[in-house]
Formats: sequence, C-alpha cells, structure tokens
Amino acid sequence: MNTRNLRFRSNRVRDIVSLFHEELDSMYGSGEVGVFLDMLFEAFLGWDKVRLLTSKEQTIDQSDLLRFHWALEDLKQYRPIQHIIGYTDFCGCRISVSPDVLIPRPETEEMVNSLTPGPSPHGEGSRILDLCTGSGCIAITLKKTFPKADVTAVDISPAALKIALENAKNNGADIRFMQADVLNGVDGLSGSYGLIVSNPPYVMEKERAQMQRNVLDYDPALALFVPDDDPLRFYKAIANIAKEHLAEDGMLVVEINESLADKTCELFHKQGFSPEVHDDFRGKHRWVSAVWNP
Ligand code: GLN
Repeated sequence: MNTRNLRFRSNRVRDIVSLFHEELDSMYGSGEVGVFLDMLFEAFLGWDKVRLLTSKEQTIDQSDLLRFHWALEDLKQYRPIQHIIGYTDFCGCRISVSPDVLIPRPETEEMVNSLTPGPSPHGEGSRILDLCTGSGCIAITLKKTFPKADVTAVDISPAALKIALENAKNNGADIRFMQADVLNGVDGLSGSYGLIVSNPPYVMEKERAQMQRNVLDYDPALALFVPDDDPLRFYKAIANIAKEHLAEDGMLVVEINESLADKTCELFHKQGFSPEVHDDFRGKHRWVSAVWNP
C-alpha cells in the first residue's frame, strides 16, 4: 500500500492519537480508545503509558505507522484489540489469543483472584482440574500461584488446546492437557481434586441479540453458546464430574450466566453441594463456589 494514502497528518505520535480518537470515539468512547492506544503502543513499540504520555511530539517509522493504520481499520470493523495485538494480560500472565479461544475476560480474572490469595491446595487436594480451559488462562494462573499443585486442563477443541499448550509453555506452567467433551464426561480422570474450576459456555442463544459485534463476530461460538432449552447443560455435566472427583474438603468454582444464578445454585444444591453466589465488579452474579453439603 502507498503509505502516502494514510490519513495520519504526520508520523508524529500526537497525530496518531488524535486520528484514533476522531475515528473511534463515537464507536467505543474516548476512555476505551485511550486503552486501545496504550495497548498498541506497548505491543508495537514497547512503550509504557508514561512514555506515550510524554512522547507526543516524537515521530515513528513509516513501517510502524502502517501498523497503526491497519489497527485503526481493524478496530473500525470491531476486531477485538486482543486479536490485533495477539494477546491479553490475565492475572499477570501474558496469554496469546486467536479466534479459536474465548478472549479472557476481566470478570474471569476476578473469579480467579478470589481463589489465589487462598490456602494452597494441600494433601489429597493439591490437584486442580480446569474444565473448558480455552486459552488455558485459569489453569495457568493457578499453576503459577500454586506451583506445587498438579493441574489438569480439559477442552473439547484441539485448536484451543494448541494455544493453551503454547500459553502454558510461554508462562513456564507445567499443566496436563486433555482433549474431551465435558458434556460426555471426561475419560481418563482419576482420583480426586481439591479444586475443580470452570468457565463453560453459558450464553443462551436468545441472548445473541444483546451482544456486541466484537464478541459475536470474533469469539468462538462453541465457547459461548448453549441452547435456550438447556442452558445449564455444562453445569449438570460439571456437577457429575465433581460428584466423582471433588475431594471431601474440595471446592468447586464456576463462572455463570448472571441471569441463571438461582437455577445454577439449585442444580448444585440438588446434587449435594452447598453453593454460594459471588458478584463481579459490575455488580452482576458472576460465579458460584460450592463445597460438599455438610
Ligand atoms: N462472559 C462471556 C461473555 O459475555 C461469556 C463467557 C462464557 O460463555 N463462558 O461474552
């Protein structure tokens, strides 16, 4: 492409920042566009936020300018910023993402953070099982926090497992990955786990209409949707796995659809667990923890 066609007024950082705001603020709001710029300058030039703030008069190379040009075009098509730069940060771990995995969400980070100051799983319970692992972000964070834990992560998608494996390697986390459909039970699990954790698909098909294009067009449908007539299918399967494999003093933690918190708790209660709902930073019911009913 002829770089003279780029709409940036110059190679100056100030002009890049203003064009992004001019073209994207009405789509995303200026705060979010600021976050995109921070992420792009870090990914493309290795600059931190302070450097960006204090280098507005600096000019950048034409080849770097071209990368900002394409990023701007992609953002106008609602391509997620994490796909543009290829990664996201999750609980301090850098996690590569692609259209084969759900982009890790801040609310999932919150769920995981609620577990990590806790006591390290011990004894029989020093084993951790992550069901529907996707990018591997939950399993990797837990292994990094509890290095002695023996962590197993399961996903149905070979393409997702490939990314999860790469993420585990890049983060120095030794995790056993297994390919299996959680809905059919997972062959090859043995013994008990002190912590069973999952962020399974939980968005009902009828909720599609309220979802953003950057989610609908780019996150894998397999990781998101469940049929309207059986939205808790994964939780039923997870409860069955937990009945067989959760240690006596173990804990089960699952991310949930905020509109199905009561029904999810009811399901776990009926299966012999004591569930508790936790809200996320937006005030939405976001995860359920459950122990065995005493
Ligand atoms: N919270 C995600 C979303 O709203 C859905 C995650 C999931 O289905 N597990 O896009």
